[in-house]
This record gives sequence, C-alpha cells and structure tokens, in this order.
Amino acid sequence: MTVPRTAQEIRLASRPQGLPTAENFELVSAPVPAPVDGELLVRNLVMSVDPYMRGRMNDVKSYVAPFEIGRPLDGGAVGEVVVSNVEGFAVGDKVLHGLGWREYAVVGGAHATKVGDAPLGAYLGVLGMPGMTAYAGLLDVASFKEGDVVFVSGAAGAVGQVAGQIARLRGARRVIGSAGTDAKVSYLLDELGFDAAFNYRNGPVKEQLATAAPEGIDVFFDNVGGEHLEAAIDSFNLYGRAALCGAISVYNATASTLPPGPRNLGLAVGKRLTLRGFLVSDHAHLQDEFARSVGGWIAAGQLKYRETVTEGGLSEAPSAFIGMLSGENLGKALVAL
Ligand code: NAP
Repeated sequence: MTVPRTAQEIRLASRPQGLPTAENFELVSAPVPAPVDGELLVRNLVMSVDPYMRGRMNDVKSYVAPFEIGRPLDGGAVGEVVVSNVEGFAVGDKVLHGLGWREYAVVGGAHATKVGDAPLGAYLGVLGMPGMTAYAGLLDVASFKEGDVVFVSGAAGAVGQVAGQIARLRGARRVIGSAGTDAKVSYLLDELGFDAAFNYRNGPVKEQLATAAPEGIDVFFDNVGGEHLEAAIDSFNLYGRAALCGAISVYNATASTLPPGPRNLGLAVGKRLTLRGFLVSDHAHLQDEFARSVGGWIAAGQLKYRETVTEGGLSEAPSAFIGMLSGENLGKALVAL
C-alpha cells in the first residue's frame, strides 16, 4: 500500500469551558512520520471517544497528563499495520494502540497489541477497556456476590451495558439501571434483561430508585456521580458497596457550577458502606479472566452489546465526542476512519 506524505490529525485548539464545542478542536494536515526500528506505521480504522478525554482537556493535575494545546489528542484506536519494523508484526495485522485522533500513527512495538477475529470496534468497547472496567469494577472493586441487588448508573453506555449484564449472569437478585432517554430504558429492559430501569430525566433519581428497588440495593456501579450517588446512598442496605467508576454528571462543570457532594454522606457510617473509587488500569491481573468470561458470554449469545459508530472519517470525531458527552450514543461511541 502507498503511504501518503501527509495525513490528518486532530489537535486541541483551546480548552473548553463547560461542554466542548467544535472550536476547541483543529483538523490539521501533517507529514506522516517514517517509523524507525522497533516501530510500526498504522493506518487507523476505528477510534474511541471516551468520557475521560474530557478531563484531559482541562489543564489540571490528574492520573493522566492533560492534552496540550496545539498538539494532537490521543486515545484508543484499532488500525492496520502498513509498515512494520517490529519482529512479530506483519503488514496487514490489525492492532490496538493508544494513538487515535489521527489517520496514521507511528506506534512503538511495545504499545501495540494484535487483535483477534471479533469486529474491530469490540476491542475498544465490550472486549476492551470499557468491558474490562465493568468486569473489574463489579467483581473486584464492589465485591459483587450472588443474590446482590445491583444498581448501575449510565447503564446504556459502553461500561454500564456490560456491568449490568455481568451482574445478571453472575446471579444478581435484581439488576436496576438508569439512563437518559426512554429508548435507552427500553434497551435495558427489553434487550439486556435488566429487571428495572428508569429515565433519570423523568423525575428525581432518589424517588425513581426507591420505586425500582423496594428492598434497597447492595451494590452501586456508579458512572454518573452527583444526584445518582446521593440517591444510591439513600437506597443502600447495610454493608452496601459502591464502585465509583466515573462521575460524568460533573465532567463539564466549572468551578462555579460544581455541585456539592452527596448531602447524605453521613448515612455511610450507620449503614457501614464502602464507597471505593478505582481505575481499570489497577486491575490488569484480571485481563485474561475478563477476556475468557466476556468472550464466552458473547459467543454463547448471553451478553449483548451495542455500538454507536460515527461515519465520515476523522473530521467527525469532535462531534462524535461532544455527542457522547451529551448522551447521543447507545453503547460504545466509536468513529470509523
Ligand atoms: P458512555 O456511558 O458510553 O457514554 C457517556 C454517557 O454518559 C452518555 O451516553 C450519557 O448517557 C451519560 N451522561 C452524560 N451526561 C450525563 C449526566 N449529566 N448525567 C447522567 N448521565 C450522563 O461512556 P463510558 O465509556 O461507558 O464511561 C462511563 C463512565 O465510566 C464515565 O464516567 C467514565 O469516565 C467512566 N470510566 C471509568 C473508568 C475507570 O477506570 N474508572 C474506565 C472507563 C470509563 P445518558 O443518555 O444516559 O445520559
């Protein structure tokens, strides 16, 4: 295959205040670098847009460095090797790596993983980082056990759709989900087998959760934070466990709009609650077990998943990202390049 001399990449043009806008991104044509010994040149085929990228657009110290203004963004992508200077990788191999937001990427051999026979997007979703987050968060962090009543917020997204189904498959007594549209609620109830689900925009979360979980909840897998976390604390049974996975309801908040924390945190004492934050990267020891379990459930037709794939190439990535933050995706949000 002929490698073009230039290709497109997306750079951070400015830091957003609140929800990002198209002006925060810049589509630029740049020379395609030549890979040296130990490197691959990869033509990206599909890339991920993820909530954590919103945090990286802010200039704040966090567990991952902020994106730099004028530099390309990065993130999960799957592409095809077009030049290989790495033993064990051949032209045509499909690889998972961390240099998305560009059409061509030069990837060090140690940072590329060959993918299997599943559809490529699955390695960025159900079989990739979000699926692994669901697995580790539910089973390791929240110490889920058979018979638990489980509540998943953001349940129709990439992580949530997997977390709720693992709970069901592992013998939860009741699985409850929340999402932001009635269509997503139908997806949870009719396709994924949740026992109850509600649209958090239709009324206070506290009341809707109390109705959906008349006997209380034992485990909360939280993707949303804010009002959802406060409602879960109210609904928790004794010794309830929360896996604090994300807090997307506050990712676009500014210092002046940041809501106060849960007002009912004092209940955690009497209820002996465990509220535990986590990062998927701390649970790499579960990777093989996760791939076997979730791969097996998918193959057996027991675990389903959706993806929302934005077509139109790299130029559509900013709107796909903004759309994901606004709830336009069902399941994993991806961009086809
Ligand atoms: P996702 O759920 O596929 O997409 C984001 C979803 O968030 C949107 O579709 C939208 O759905 C929902 N949302 C947006 N604003 C909201 C608001 N104000 N209140 C409630 N929901 C809102 O994303 P994902 O990749 O699966 O990530 C889910 C969460 O997991 C995020 O918080 C992310 O940061 C976190 N995460 C954590 C780790 C870790 O290692 N801890 C790893 C991966 C992801 P609705 O239509 O339902 O509003």
